Amino acid sequence: MDLRVQSDFLTPNPYSRPGTRLSCVKGIVIHWVANPKSTAKNNRDFFERRKLGKSGYGSAHYIVCLDGTVVQCLPEAEMAYHVGSSLPYKPGTTQIYTPEAWARLNTNRSGQKPYPNNCTIGIECTHIDWDGRMTKETWRATVKLAAQLLKRYGLTANDLWLHKEVVGWKDCHRWFVNNPAEWARFKAEVGTAMKPTRAEVMLIMSKYFKDIPKEMEWAAPHADSLYEKGVLKGDGQGNLKPADPLTRAEAAVLIDRAIEYVMKELSGK
Ligand SMILES: [Zn+2]
Repeated sequence: MDLRVQSDFLTPNPYSRPGTRLSCVKGIVIHWVANPKSTAKNNRDFFERRKLGKSGYGSAHYIVCLDGTVVQCLPEAEMAYHVGSSLPYKPGTTQIYTPEAWARLNTNRSGQKPYPNNCTIGIECTHIDWDGRMTKETWRATVKLAAQLLKRYGLTANDLWLHKEVVGWKDCHRWFVNNPAEWARFKAEVGTAMKPTRAEVMLIMSKYFKDIPKEMEWAAPHADSLYEKGVLKGDGQGNLKPADPLTRAEAAVLIDRAIEYVMKELSGK
């Protein structure tokens, strides 16, 4: 099943789409919409109505619908208001944000107050009841979306957060907060979904050439190393044609480039 994502960006406004750039992406935060059987579009429109200034601040980048389709409310490069807090993470402390979030979702110098909104992407899940139970479609699409995002930003399934794990006090995503085994299962499924496919493994064998077959895998690091030194260029479209014969003319060019590289290295230029 391919992920079906539709962009329906919010109108820029101070309450749900402030237009601030994220400083980086350090985590993906999972939420529930806290409104059983409402659709992604319903919730997107709720964020949109916040522009009127009568219902406070709040938004998220993605909302996964009951049927597994996804609505994107904001570009990933922009900040959403989904994990901000001004309350202590637990009674009896003045610290907002849990110690873990404080340490890991912090773009400020150590010891300074973090602002996890500036380095996280928020995913809202729709659900069918007040326990937060999701449809199979919502679950699967959320796994897939989370896996894609984590890969895109060089993160792992350990960089998945529940809203509650960031702020401490909020009952969100309620299903996962109340069913820790389900949260563990969800993260495990995301980890599995992040594993590269066979086609991707073929590509990873060489960083620059997409046509090196399994039986010539041994040559890939050498080809990559020569590519990085400017000696081997392929056809300019990512093909090395590794089984094609090398003419004397091509050999002359390769050897000449290799000597040029070595001379440059020796002269320290
Ligand atoms: Zn939440």
